[in-house]
Amino acid sequence: MFLFSLYFCAKFKSKHTIKAININMEKIIIVGGVASGATAAAKVRRLSSDASITMFETGPDISFANCGLPYYIGGDIKSRSKLILQSPESFNEQYQVDVHVNTRITNIDRQNKTVTSLNIRTGEIRNHKYDKLLLAQGGRPIKPNIEGANLDHVYTLWTLNDMDNIYRHIEEKSPRSAVVIGGGFIGLEMVEALVKRGLNVHLIEMMPHVMSVMDAETAGYIEQEMLSYGVNIHTGKSVTSITSKSVKINDGTIIDADMVLMSIGVRPTLQLATEASLEIGESGGLLVNEYLQTSDEHIYAAGDMVEVENRVSGKRVRIPLAGPANRQGRIAAENMMGGKHAYKGAMGTSILRVFEAVAGITGLSLKQALAEGIPAKAVVVHKEHHTAYYPGAENVSVMLVYNTETGAVLGGQTAGYKGADRRLDVIASAIAGNLTIHDLADIDFSYSPPLGTANDVMNMAAYTAENQQSGFSPSITVGELDEWVKDHNSIVIDVRDTFSFEKGSIYGAYNVPLEMLHEELKSIPKDSNILVYDETGKKGHQALRMLKNSGVDNVYNISGGFISLQRQTYAIGFHNIRVNLPKLERKTVDKIREDIVMDKKKDSSLTTNANTPLVVDVRTPMEFLRGAYPNAINISLDELEKRIDELGSKSRDITLYCASGARSAYGQQMLRKIGFTNVKNGGGLMHMMRRK
Ligand SMILES: Cc1cc2nc3c(=O)[nH]c(=O)nc-3n(C[C@H](O)[C@H](O)[C@H](O)COP(=O)(O)OP(=O)(O)OC[C@H]3O[C@@H](n4cnc5c(N)ncnc54)[C@H](O)[C@@H]3O)c2cc1C
Repeated sequence: MFLFSLYFCAKFKSKHTIKAININMEKIIIVGGVASGATAAAKVRRLSSDASITMFETGPDISFANCGLPYYIGGDIKSRSKLILQSPESFNEQYQVDVHVNTRITNIDRQNKTVTSLNIRTGEIRNHKYDKLLLAQGGRPIKPNIEGANLDHVYTLWTLNDMDNIYRHIEEKSPRSAVVIGGGFIGLEMVEALVKRGLNVHLIEMMPHVMSVMDAETAGYIEQEMLSYGVNIHTGKSVTSITSKSVKINDGTIIDADMVLMSIGVRPTLQLATEASLEIGESGGLLVNEYLQTSDEHIYAAGDMVEVENRVSGKRVRIPLAGPANRQGRIAAENMMGGKHAYKGAMGTSILRVFEAVAGITGLSLKQALAEGIPAKAVVVHKEHHTAYYPGAENVSVMLVYNTETGAVLGGQTAGYKGADRRLDVIASAIAGNLTIHDLADIDFSYSPPLGTANDVMNMAAYTAENQQSGFSPSITVGELDEWVKDHNSIVIDVRDTFSFEKGSIYGAYNVPLEMLHEELKSIPKDSNILVYDETGKKGHQALRMLKNSGVDNVYNISGGFISLQRQTYAIGFHNIRVNLPKLERKTVDKIREDIVMDKKKDSSLTTNANTPLVVDVRTPMEFLRGAYPNAINISLDELEKRIDELGSKSRDITLYCASGARSAYGQQMLRKIGFTNVKNGGGLMHMMRRK
């Protein structure tokens, strides 16, 4: 045993300076047996074979996957047992932890270092001695004091039992409508689950937009996705009463509701701690120091019940998330066993997927950074998550918030169908490593055509931030636009093609496609404030530089372009400008994949065997969707050879075009080599349109 101790000390001392371990049977008691509690118990056992570990859990289960509950209700996870990661027996077998389920700790006697347990099933009350106590009690969903909140069909989702009740309600009562109250993570995951179960869902959120931790623009992306799946969103509204068949909101609207889910937040479970006179912090969580020790040095705490330091702002905050809870459990275990491992604080990195849309946030938003008195700015970039020419490319959006004086990365938000998670983790790592936008610009990110681009969206975001910081390309985010427009009398120029402009634009903007801007430069008054935008921000930057080089000084680009304008409009809109939105794409849960296949089939049937003149847009599907030549079909250049059958006869009159004429020239050569005799290069889309 002595040898083990020596080995142990040597192994761990180098990393976290753990001192000699008391091998005289350290008595560890853990209150709460799920995320942080179970993690801590397992870690204590890995650190010491001798420690006596006892874990108490009020509920019937330990170590269950609470984050997975909505996916069982929605049907993505088919088997309930998959959500139970350990049973008390298997946990005991693996870690030799004395687990007591259905047992609540009702009192802490700090003087005598004793806790009192109550077995909820048998009523048995017992006292237990501890050397070190870990409070890992988490929190409980808040149930507001609304008329009808206690009716049988009103649920919260926190435990397996809650999940079973909701599941049973759907199975047995076949509800047709549901109201979800609260547009945070759990609320939105439940919106998806209930839509997948075939219910007509209304979401009610008191704040101006869903996911209030995120900027409106990012939230707008999620709202747009939900709207396209037919979810009814009521933001800026609160519920005033619930009946067995409906929900009433504060504007008087009555909404049908066969069931109601409340997810308006989590309150830390603090009764035990307050009764033991442990200190509560300024944000309402249990106060702990960097070693996760409470105001009593023998009592540690971790997870949803504590408040910790925000790693960027230094403010005391509560971050009720699984990642921090698990890490804190691990660190608290080390420290209870004599270690000195400091918890560095939380960044609030969080992500969610609603239907197919993924959005996440880490660190500070621009608003939070400015509220902290940090000189900050933000840029937004939208770019393909992998090369545009490889099939399946989707836009991924990155908002990067940085300190304008030091360049330090302060936070960020990402959104997209694919690749948003990876980019969010890059930003989180940049914050943790104290990196600047200049460091990010220089990082080599992994690249292969199906997996990324040689100029990753993260590099692009960093370059864009550098260009903004240096004044080379001044830009404003859509979140800042209202104020900017109020203070600046400006001319707004939309540099996208005419189709995109006609589908949706800022009301009153002039449409001067980038390709034509050069010709219009003379007519633009040099002393005006000019606001430019395109679809993503990229061509807006080109237009800005063209205007600056021609002597117009006060030019600003809308960061993130029309995509960002659209998302902001979906979320909260603007007071000082009006944005006309393109028609919303409708999606259904089961049909979406089939629809894509059907559309492709439709395209082919239009073209195969036909011999009429054909116009082929060889740009990417994403470029095509933004606007195309009337009746043109889209076969991107990289697919042209594969889809040759869709072009019909080799003598057919075919005109190819792209954005500039370069890709279509290549396509023309390709088709001629294959034997097509009547292929023309129509050049760029704008030239095609002018000729029309
Ligand atoms: C539906 C749902 C989805 C979620 N999705 C995500 C997600 O996608 N990502 C993410 O990061 N986080 C997510 N979370 C949050 C995450 O699960 C929590 O942050 C995490 O579980 C907190 O861990 P904890 O140990 O502090 O508390 P918990 O895991 O809640 O465990 C606390 C346990 O303590 C027990 N307890 C309390 N008081 C006593 C007492 N006096 N005696 C004995 N036992 C007691 C409770 O019964 C409870 O089981 C989700 C949560 C839910 C409910």
